[in-house]
Amino acid sequence: ELYNKVLELKGNIRVFCRCRPLNSEEIAAGASLAIDFESVKDGELTVISNGAPKKTFRFDAVFGPQAEQADVFQDTAPFATSVLDGYNVCIFAYGQTGTGKTFTMEGTKEARGVNFRTLEELFHVINERQKLYLYEISVSALEVYNEQIRDLLVSGSQQSTMAKRLEIRQVGEGMHHVPGLVEAHVNNMNEVWEVLQTGSNARAVGSTNANEHSSRSHCIHCVMVKGENLLNGECTKSKLWLVDLAGSERVAKTDVLGERLKETQNINRSLSALGDVISALATKSSHIPFRNSKLTHLLQDSLGGDSKTLMFVQISPNENDLGETLCSLNFASRVR
Ligand code: ADP
Ligand code: MG
Repeated sequence: ELYNKVLELKGNIRVFCRCRPLNSEEIAAGASLAIDFESVKDGELTVISNGAPKKTFRFDAVFGPQAEQADVFQDTAPFATSVLDGYNVCIFAYGQTGTGKTFTMEGTKEARGVNFRTLEELFHVINERQKLYLYEISVSALEVYNEQIRDLLVSGSQQSTMAKRLEIRQVGEGMHHVPGLVEAHVNNMNEVWEVLQTGSNARAVGSTNANEHSSRSHCIHCVMVKGENLLNGECTKSKLWLVDLAGSERVAKTDVLGERLKETQNINRSLSALGDVISALATKSSHIPFRNSKLTHLLQDSLGGDSKTLMFVQISPNENDLGETLCSLNFASRVR
């Protein structure tokens, strides 16, 4: 079989694949490519092994190492902005640590990612629609680590005095809420930038190794939109979730003990729960196992129904990472 038809254009689930470039260390070490960069076109990508084509995968879009943040966002924007039309939307970055999940979502100061660009686009559209709609935007930033929710907009010192752990409560038919989670109102991009920075800084605090911690937790931004149609008074409430997932790499059970083992099991559990939920939604299964992890429970209202889901599968081009790359590509195939 030459290729996996990953996504027929059915349902509201889309998968984009993004392959990072080889970095300077890999180039210096003479790394071989496991991805045929020439094959990256029209939503196709071919994995090579020992110099020969091994398998071709199809996605809704494939971004090779040359793709810029703006190119990626061009195809992402329609998902994000449909939150202004009242849709719930989830955008995930999935993949092995070091493949560019944070680069895609958060980006850098010079090359801003989906999170920042999305909010910028939302404000742009809101401005265009100001005669017809009134919008209110607020943002939450949270982290799910070891199946516990941490508010990234509450400073470390306040957090330690918070007696109660954040929990998910059902507040009505198909409505879930995390009581106590900070929802910061934002009126412009300066305020957005402040919130994103606060969240990002909070993530690093309280961990001895910030990089390692961030690869082992899910970093989530939730953009809440209240819209009022000024002509007919109709109101909408919708949410956009921007999720930088924990690293998907498999860790041999024999390599980890104690806390680290629990951490690994929690990551495996939540990523496979996410895969299970999305594939159950795609096949229109009658039972959707939302409750199997904090992550899917949290996002329950925004997965399925007429909500939209976009999954970035991030991969490395390095032949040394081929095993993990195939795992990620296969995960993405299952998620249709
Ligand atoms: P992850 O969050 O998946 O662990 P990162 O986003 O931290 O991975 O990316 C690892 C490194 O690779 C970072 O230095 C990042 O800037 C770089 N990188 C990732 N993707 C790209 C890309 N498409 N173009 C250029 N550099 C990238
Ligand atoms: Mg990261």
